[in-house]
Amino acid sequence: MKFQYIRPRIKPIYPVYQLNDELFRIGAQLSITTEFEDPERKLFELVKLLDGRPITEIFKHMTESFPDLTEEDVLDGLDILSSENLIEETPDDNLEKIDERYYPNINYFSRYMTYDRNAIDIQKKISSSSILLLGLGGGGSNILTLLSGLGPKAIRIVDYDRVEKSNLGRQLLYKERDLGKLKVDVAVNALKEMNSTINVEGFNKKIESVEDILQFTDGIDLVICVIDEPPFQVQKTVNQAIIKAGLPCVFGASQVSRGRVFSVIPKVTGCFDCLNIHYTLHDDKFVEQFVGFRNIEFNPPTIAYAPAIFQLTAAIVDEAVRVLTGYAKPSSLSTQYEINYENGSSFTHPSWERYSDDCPTCGNGDSQKWEIFRYYENS
Ligand SMILES: [Zn+2]
Repeated sequence: MKFQYIRPRIKPIYPVYQLNDELFRIGAQLSITTEFEDPERKLFELVKLLDGRPITEIFKHMTESFPDLTEEDVLDGLDILSSENLIEETPDDNLEKIDERYYPNINYFSRYMTYDRNAIDIQKKISSSSILLLGLGGGGSNILTLLSGLGPKAIRIVDYDRVEKSNLGRQLLYKERDLGKLKVDVAVNALKEMNSTINVEGFNKKIESVEDILQFTDGIDLVICVIDEPPFQVQKTVNQAIIKAGLPCVFGASQVSRGRVFSVIPKVTGCFDCLNIHYTLHDDKFVEQFVGFRNIEFNPPTIAYAPAIFQLTAAIVDEAVRVLTGYAKPSSLSTQYEINYENGSSFTHPSWERYSDDCPTCGNGDSQKWEIFRYYENS
């Protein structure tokens, strides 16, 4: 007897209703509604029993109501519902133990659960995690706001800037009264007001070396890097640090009308330096482009439009939750997930592998072998 279903239930986010005596539906929204033909009303009866009671009770009730049914038949019925992604595990924990502010998050995660997972566990995973957020500009300040609603156990934030008037169009964490203040100080106070359950620490520090980052990684479960200066160099430095610390990191950056997200899980996915190697091998103009761009010392004006930045920060935080909890498959492992603000579309770049023999950072490679690394500092 397979007992994979211990306490299965129909996801409470879906309505269950009959269209007539032979037809019923679960769900009411376009493309997330499933219709069942059920002239004998056996499946409908089973669905009504899927309220969190133990499988043994369900067997008993169904085989008594329909003497021609076996327990195997009941399991087949559950398999049908499970294959349509309509069943989740009933959580052991009572929802009343969870902070009410997270109920809508939990209901959202329910959509993604399978028969052996429940959404309360996803929220509990977030609530027991500690996040290191690097950068409090257009990315980081809005990411912090989103994280406040997710309720991790702790957030450590690192930045060195002060609030300027030119920030106020998109960095909505900051108020006019904050002009001239250190962003970390303002951000810590703002987060405490938004969610006092999170243990927040702010550090006024410019990230310039691997050690600058490693001093903040103790007890951290995931890093989010949205520092954009100096471009590429800072990602390289953060990448080296997270590989050393063995921590997953979600990187995000905005470029004109596109936003890009990629995540690195040390020793599992390719890292940022593997990406440098990948481009060297697959794009014959990569090094020339890199050097040509670097030589003009282009200092671009800040290009940042809040509705565009919000698309990117939403994607970064969702990706962080995916990497942290696995509630759904991450979108940017071994690939770059790109959002086109012009039309709201997204796509993924060709994937890049982990070069365990060639990467000087996450593998056993020699940085001297690759021309590209000469153009970075500290390589
Ligand atoms: Zn690597």
